[in-house]
Amino acid sequence: MNSVFLHIDMNNFYASVECAERPDLDGVPVAIAGSPEKRHGVVLAKNQLAKKYGVRTGDTVREAQTKAPGIVFLPPRFEKYDKISKKMFGICNKYSCYVEPFGPDECWLDCTQTQKLFGGGRRIADELRERVHRELGITASVGVSFTKLFAKLGSDMKKPDGTTVIDEENFREKVWPLKAEELCGIGGSTARKLSDMNILTIGELANSDERVIRKTLGKSGVDIRLAARGESIGEVREAVVKRDVKSVGHGLTALRDLTTWEDVQTLVYYLSELIATRLRKYGMKARGVAVNARAYTLSRKGKQAVLPYPVASSRDIAENALRLLKTFYDGTPLRSIDVAVYMLSSEREPQQLSFFDDGIKSAYSEKLDRTIDKLRTKYGKNAVIRACHAEQDIFMNKDLGDFLPFKR
Ligand SMILES: [Mg+2]
Repeated sequence: MNSVFLHIDMNNFYASVECAERPDLDGVPVAIAGSPEKRHGVVLAKNQLAKKYGVRTGDTVREAQTKAPGIVFLPPRFEKYDKISKKMFGICNKYSCYVEPFGPDECWLDCTQTQKLFGGGRRIADELRERVHRELGITASVGVSFTKLFAKLGSDMKKPDGTTVIDEENFREKVWPLKAEELCGIGGSTARKLSDMNILTIGELANSDERVIRKTLGKSGVDIRLAARGESIGEVREAVVKRDVKSVGHGLTALRDLTTWEDVQTLVYYLSELIATRLRKYGMKARGVAVNARAYTLSRKGKQAVLPYPVASSRDIAENALRLLKTFYDGTPLRSIDVAVYMLSSEREPQQLSFFDDGIKSAYSEKLDRTIDKLRTKYGKNAVIRACHAEQDIFMNKDLGDFLPFKR
């Protein structure tokens, strides 16, 4: 099944928020500017009409006045923008749990799983625009595509208030003529290196020689080349905007009592995979690991510990849970096990990595997990499973909610 990504971008965000409250400014060029009373204030945003007069973000108030006589300057109200921004993410959340903000006025949605519910990508895009307009009084542009970056390019094509669909049939014609640096992820220095190689458009990048790109730009170059070819679909993170996740845990009562340490390992690895998958979707890491076990006698024991550095891979979670479990495991048959992680932090936060073996192994495990995610997204959840989960009678290897993105 093809992925369906949407990228929504509210048009002229700050100015639109202000104009929505001021019908008297209809037909008037408007700019949001820091300290307009001082003549050296700078334009932060402008409405469509001011844009038509050639007013640009970064212009001084004086320049804007010259370009658009009669322009009205308003001071920014960031708290208000923040509120509207959260409301828009909330509307998007109605169509997918995978909503990834990219600045206050734009975000991606992964509607691969939900498109059928709502009648397809274009339909969702039109409905989103209509709702944002009706509920927030702001127009938005939406791009729909089978890759995340093409969706972003699409939201730039019809402004204001339009839907653009970029599919596998038309992407060469719609995307390839664009300048290479328009592709999200290509910064100034990369663009310069590309232009030195005479690669100016996304199409030229797509059709460039992979070996040459790798030599000049390394792995990131290979990645952007794949993106230009529509061969790297990208991933949209589950929205962390709405929820304030404090811990992630999973527990299971086994189908039969766990009588050996191997049984215990089998279940703990399974639970850890579920937890790690969710952590990655939230874009988080955890420093605390807790494990609880219930014996066949129904007595409970548990232990928790704080790790020297945050982890996110299923292997790290499992190994730590097992290490804790071992401290009280005495061979008594177990009926159920719970594993949880807490002390969560964003994976984007800078971290002091261990210089020793562990840190490097963790990085590898996370990479492995992400690769497995990709395979599962493409081929279904059971495309890759741990050997210990291939033949076991401890739990039903069914699709749980967390594996939803991997469902075919
Ligand atoms: Mg915008």
